[in-house]
Amino acid sequence: MSEKLTSKMAMDLEDRYGAHNYHPIPVVLAKGKGAKVWDVEGKEYFDFLSAYSAVNQGHCHPKIVEALTEQAQKLTLTSRAFYNDTLGVYEKYITDYFGYDKVLPMNSGAEGDETALKLCRKWAYTKKGIPENEAKIIVCANNFHGRTITIISMSTDPEAKKDFGPYTPGFITIPYDNLDALSEALKDPNVAGFLVEPIQGEAGVMVPQEGYLKKAYDMCKAKNVLFIADEVQTGIARTGKLLACDHEGVRPDVLILGKALSGGAYPISAVLADDDIMLTIKPGEHGSTFGGNPLAARVAVAALKVVKEEKLAGRAEKLGQLFREEMKKINSEMIELVRGKGLLNAVIIRPKNGKTAWDVCIKMAENGLLAKPTHDHIIRFAPPLVISEEELMKAIAIIKKSILSFE
Ligand SMILES: *Cc1c(COP(=O)(O)O)cnc(C)c1O
Repeated sequence: MSEKLTSKMAMDLEDRYGAHNYHPIPVVLAKGKGAKVWDVEGKEYFDFLSAYSAVNQGHCHPKIVEALTEQAQKLTLTSRAFYNDTLGVYEKYITDYFGYDKVLPMNSGAEGDETALKLCRKWAYTKKGIPENEAKIIVCANNFHGRTITIISMSTDPEAKKDFGPYTPGFITIPYDNLDALSEALKDPNVAGFLVEPIQGEAGVMVPQEGYLKKAYDMCKAKNVLFIADEVQTGIARTGKLLACDHEGVRPDVLILGKALSGGAYPISAVLADDDIMLTIKPGEHGSTFGGNPLAARVAVAALKVVKEEKLAGRAEKLGQLFREEMKKINSEMIELVRGKGLLNAVIIRPKNGKTAWDVCIKMAENGLLAKPTHDHIIRFAPPLVISEEELMKAIAIIKKSILSFE
């Protein structure tokens, strides 16, 4: 193509040739660095979505890009039919990093969740002694674990679920942040696991009451039930600790990671567990052609190193407090509630004169900040954790100006 691609042209192409399974904010991005992105016309924005927390380390982090490009010229994929010289190094690194015996590498977050479910069932039959095909896993209402058939079978969101049945059986749904409901569900002797997001991200950054995770964990232990944490969005420094479970000193039996495990450079997910659980899956029983490929292995190590070197958890903790304080100061009827942990925050928008969270997001985009509504009335604010305090204050000024423009 000789003529330069405009935003309009790029959007028309996606609309014409791509499936319509998303409803994007109308900006066309061409470049990213740190906490900022630029559209094809060169307009600059703060990125307050961070690809749903995949780019915690900032866009195109030089150390991650270096690992990616270096490895891409040497060896990218062998499949697991053979050993390669990067996977074991990564496996040692990540298991030391999070303190588990073993890791099972996959690609997407959904695959990580699927892997955890399979692992839980395998453990149920081979270790816990649940009769074949009887194992149940407790899940929470308003969860988000991805988009596969089994995962949407656990969903309570009609949009995610309707017309995609029949659904996978074997799940018990209870309300989130409700220990009585958990206690009741745990009475079933065929329960093998409890799958939970430490903070429900897609549901609108639902932060459970303090002590919920710890008590839920203890209740699971008392019933020999696996506590499975989906930290695909909350993990890797986003909420102010390495894992959101760390806020309550909970060590999940099965830990699912994705998104920021690559810093956004590559699709990488992982499931971590100790031998007693992980070794119940035997050769040939689970896998993925791309899972644990050399490129992914190198990128994940680089991405995890950046998190430690740049103390991203501490930054998220400190800047998150600042963000919430500043949001609460904005004097607008449209702000109903501000909540979150670390740099995973949400503002609940009360519609005004027919203007909704979507209109606020469009206005913020005009003013140079990108965020996306979840569930009509909630805006999630989750910038890359490398954002500086100065940048954050500028971004806050944009949010403030945008919301006040509706007064
Ligand atoms: C994004 C997300 C997933 C799914 O990850 P994909 O890479 O999109 O498959 C699973 N769980 C949680 C909590 C997520 O936020």
